[in-house]
Amino acid sequence: MARLIIVGAGGVGNVVAHKAAVQEEFSEILLASRTIEKCDRIAKRIGSNKLQTAALDADDVNNTIKLLKEFRPDILINVALPYQDLVLMDACLEAGVDYLDTANYEPPDVAKFEYSWQWKYHDRYKEAGLTAILGCGFDPGVTGVFTAYALKHYFDEINYLDIVDCNAGNHGQAFATNFNPEINIREITQVGRYYENGKWIEVPPLSIHRPIPYPEIGEKESYLLYHEELESLVKHIPTLKRARFWMTFSQSYITHLQVLENLGLTRIDPVDYEGTQVVPLKFLKSLLPEPASLAENYTGQTSIGCHIRGLKNGKESNYYVYNNCDHSKAYQEVGGQAISYTTGVPAVIGALMVVKGIWKQPGVFNVEQCDPDPFMKLLGPLGLPWHEVIDRPSPFEEN
Ligand code: NDP
Repeated sequence: MARLIIVGAGGVGNVVAHKAAVQEEFSEILLASRTIEKCDRIAKRIGSNKLQTAALDADDVNNTIKLLKEFRPDILINVALPYQDLVLMDACLEAGVDYLDTANYEPPDVAKFEYSWQWKYHDRYKEAGLTAILGCGFDPGVTGVFTAYALKHYFDEINYLDIVDCNAGNHGQAFATNFNPEINIREITQVGRYYENGKWIEVPPLSIHRPIPYPEIGEKESYLLYHEELESLVKHIPTLKRARFWMTFSQSYITHLQVLENLGLTRIDPVDYEGTQVVPLKFLKSLLPEPASLAENYTGQTSIGCHIRGLKNGKESNYYVYNNCDHSKAYQEVGGQAISYTTGVPAVIGALMVVKGIWKQPGVFNVEQCDPDPFMKLLGPLGLPWHEVIDRPSPFEEN
């Protein structure tokens, strides 16, 4: 039996709390976030006597250490924002708590994410005998587990990877983001980047796109983006010749985004407004719907998977593995939408892997470095069934 602390009570925190509360491995759970009312609302909906709530500003590392020492959790699931990753990793080291997150660190003042900052904690976690699992949502997260599973069971070497992420849902809003708007818009407006023949190729944001077919959904225009799991997968699977990430956006979404950019509303540097310093993107976030609030009227599905090509017994073969998740079913079950659901469920499974000792090893790890089988085994039962398509032509066969 393990004690769990969840930090962050947004869309993903809600799903993590719901799913963790019904796992017999967790005896006590503390849901802590900046706005305690959000924690209390979630706890009320769940109605489990395992679950307590607390107010926590995780940017205050001393306060976090104090809370961890009082509650004495075995593991912390960080589903606050990427800005909090390093302070929470510091607090876990100090308090002797294992750590898991779903997004890599980003400094607030530069729109840039990379693993280097968190990988630097490896030796300190190792010496302390603690485990940190990085990027254990869906993408990053399940996409890395899918790739590790493919390598373990279907290939001698993997050469080509295309991660495809489709949201074919409709929330009825003119413009909204499916997870934290500030983080989401920073990610999408970045320069596009993919890996080919040992080099990172940069392209203007959203400049490469193509229709890609998604199961039960059909073809959707998909845009090449840089996504954080590419960095760790290329490092851990050195036979990769090319690795890319694609995400669908509607034309209306792209047009809104372009207008917001042209107006300067996606800027992250402070501007002076009548004597007050305002960060336009933070102001924009305050106007946009909270991701969690989209859930109630969301219909349609998400489909996220990996198209993989490589060699088995000297012969080239294709493998596609994916999950489709229905927004309205997620809402019925946990009161959240599918993007939050597909992130929160893997975070709970990752934490189960650590507390059961299966992924428990000293140091800092990305998911593809861990055994994928026990994780894959839990995905379906916890709500994310996955499907395989073996040796059929792939949409990426030619390019
Ligand atoms: P939300 O904005 O809905 O929730 C973030 C929560 O974190 C809010 O409750 C917020 O509190 C809280 N928070 C922010 N700052 C602090 C702080 N300093 N101390 C304590 N709590 C804080 O975001 P989501 O739930 O949509 O996303 C959560 C995380 O999941 C993000 O890091 C996101 O990047 C990641 N993610 C990962 C995905 C994956 O597949 N790997 C996919 C989608 C998201 P308050 O309410 O007071 O603002």
